[in-house]
Amino acid sequence: MGYYGGVEAGGTKFVCIVTDEKAKILAETRFPTTLPEETLQKTVDFFTAWQKDQRLSLQAIGIACFGPVDLNPESATFGYITSTPKPGWENTAVTPVIANALNLPVFFDTDVNGAALGEGRWGAAQDLSDFLYLTIGTGVGGGAVCNGKPLHGLVHPEMGHIRLPHDWQADPFPGNCPFHGDCFEGMAAGPAIKRRWGVSANTLPPDHPAWDLEARYIASALANFILTLSPQRIILGGGVMAQAHLFPQIRKYTLAYLSNYVRSEVLMNAIDSFIVPPGLGNQAGSLGSIALALQG
Ligand code: ADP
Ligand code: ZN
Repeated sequence: MGYYGGVEAGGTKFVCIVTDEKAKILAETRFPTTLPEETLQKTVDFFTAWQKDQRLSLQAIGIACFGPVDLNPESATFGYITSTPKPGWENTAVTPVIANALNLPVFFDTDVNGAALGEGRWGAAQDLSDFLYLTIGTGVGGGAVCNGKPLHGLVHPEMGHIRLPHDWQADPFPGNCPFHGDCFEGMAAGPAIKRRWGVSANTLPPDHPAWDLEARYIASALANFILTLSPQRIILGGGVMAQAHLFPQIRKYTLAYLSNYVRSEVLMNAIDSFIVPPGLGNQAGSLGSIALALQG
């Protein structure tokens, strides 16, 4: 039996878990994301203490990290968080610090690539080779699995920052992405909803006009992703998607925007099984880090 460590490194909180190779959670801790030195030390301490208490050694650590991150193994800053606006975290060596302190193999990827791999192994995308995991939460991000592997390419996809049609008359909100203003995240992440309507997204009733607008932005993005990546399924997670009534609206608008152009049985007859919530529920993120650790 092998044991694996996983770190869901989020901009708000870190979740560290130990599991067996079947992803049964054996230990867990969570703490707020403060400054890098303190946060990474707490991460190292958790795994060190577990190994000492259990007199066992972990096989590997997986880190599913908020970003942007450097995933190029040839780069001098491999395993770093790069250009994040989060104070104190720009150019932070995440993988090198944890690998050196624990002396274990460390597998590092974006939070959403991790979640996508976890959904592929244990969740809503089992047996699919090409699919997408999208989170709509504090930010918006997407992880694509293509031919069974998470897509990295030049850097890694930044699906939350695509530009979407913006009808300024219907929605005069200028967007709140510090880099692009009215990109997808700037218009549709939880903080954008809060700023546009002046109240937290979770307090808006299901019949509030916020949700029709939200469903349209998300569907607009999904239509683009279907046209560019041709995923076999799209999994929508993150805090905002706790609003389950968004799903039927998103499905409806996605089909409307595609306008019958992409001919596929699943789009035409089984859209409910094409745009779905995570099979792993709110554990998609943390188990995603274990899916990364199991890659070795
Ligand atoms: P993170 O993105 O930081 O990992 P979440 O995915 O939980 O965390 O997203 C947090 C965001 O989701 C916040 O902006 C919050 O307002 C929003 N959110 C959380 N719960 C709900 C809810 N029930 N309905 C709508 N929005 C929610
Ligand atoms: Zn942006």
